Amino acid sequence: MRVCLDPGHGGRDMGASAVGDRYEKESNLRCALLLRTRLEEMGVAVLLTRSDDRDLGLAERAELANSWLADVFISLHADWAPNSAAQGHHAIHSVFSSPAQGSNRLARFLVDYLTEMTGRDPWPRGDRGVWSRWNSVGDADYYGVIRMTQMPAVILERGFLSNAEDADLLFDDSFLQMQAEAITAAVSAYFGIPKVTPIVGQPELSAAEAVRWARGNGAHERFTDVADEYWLLGTRIGIRPEIAYAQSARETGFGHYGGIVRPEQNNWAGIKTADPTGDRPEDHQSFDTPGEGIRAHYNHLAAYAGVEPLGEPHPRYHLVMSLPWAGMIGHVEEMGGRWTPDPDYGRDIVRRYIQPLMATAVPDDDDDMVSRETYEACRKRVEELQERFRTIREIAEDSDW
Ligand SMILES: [Zn+2]
Repeated sequence: MRVCLDPGHGGRDMGASAVGDRYEKESNLRCALLLRTRLEEMGVAVLLTRSDDRDLGLAERAELANSWLADVFISLHADWAPNSAAQGHHAIHSVFSSPAQGSNRLARFLVDYLTEMTGRDPWPRGDRGVWSRWNSVGDADYYGVIRMTQMPAVILERGFLSNAEDADLLFDDSFLQMQAEAITAAVSAYFGIPKVTPIVGQPELSAAEAVRWARGNGAHERFTDVADEYWLLGTRIGIRPEIAYAQSARETGFGHYGGIVRPEQNNWAGIKTADPTGDRPEDHQSFDTPGEGIRAHYNHLAAYAGVEPLGEPHPRYHLVMSLPWAGMIGHVEEMGGRWTPDPDYGRDIVRRYIQPLMATAVPDDDDDMVSRETYEACRKRVEELQERFRTIREIAEDSDW
């Protein structure tokens, strides 16, 4: 799987301008660099047509992709429109591509995943933000990089710099990261790569961010009280605390329990005893303290993922270790049919708990205040520019140019 990413414009070609001396070329490149990291993590080979701020012609971009034998070509852009109300992402595919194949199919995935994962609506051109354009003769694609590349190629417009709200987001690191996640998901869907969530690793979020997410979901105090311990032990054992904490949210209903296991059992993950005879409370392990229950939860995951346990493991750990797949379950998705009989168990945790949790990362308050000030300054500047644009248009309309 070889993806050529093309950050549009560069060097003297600034692309569209946003408020406050910021240009499209910069947003395109920042998105491309984040995207390269994510795609490479998925095992996709990536070629950037430019990885710095330089001049690069359309033919050169296409030639780089062609000679590298890319499987797909994605040109990253941000749009500009006279009407500052226009906003949202959209994608342009080849006029020769039907919806079921090639660049049309890729464009559909890109727009749909951006819509779903960034929570923003597409610009409603063509088929819900997916469109193509003939040249003036009507015998080829209008856009150079689509016409000159020999593989499915898409121009992805990630929003409008002429819209104040979009422009703000298109230079915001956490939003660009969300776009990179969405584009990665679209490319995975296009190639049919199953989406996987690793169990082993270091935390990306803080315990405080996880608590905020838990509170937002009406968590019981006992659940938010243990977040610090989850982060401490997860970091120590080398298992991502986001995974364990999200799984516990599902297993305990954010600490309210309400299922078979009772809160006083300190069992955060539905771990059974070594020799259960049914599905009663006593068929589930009890732990002396909340912390002991968390340690057991991690040790249970350790038996799945092939990680050294922390201290003396609980009885059920040894049963997992005797199974043929012990130590080979590296991804949450593979937990289905194992942790519980439900084959969708792992995917459900990812979909309903881990993804929403990971999407809650917020910048600290200081950054927020600065960006708000900048935002106000930017908005004024946009209004000035709009006024000037209106004047220029009136002059143009009044003359016979
Ligand atoms: Zn552009």
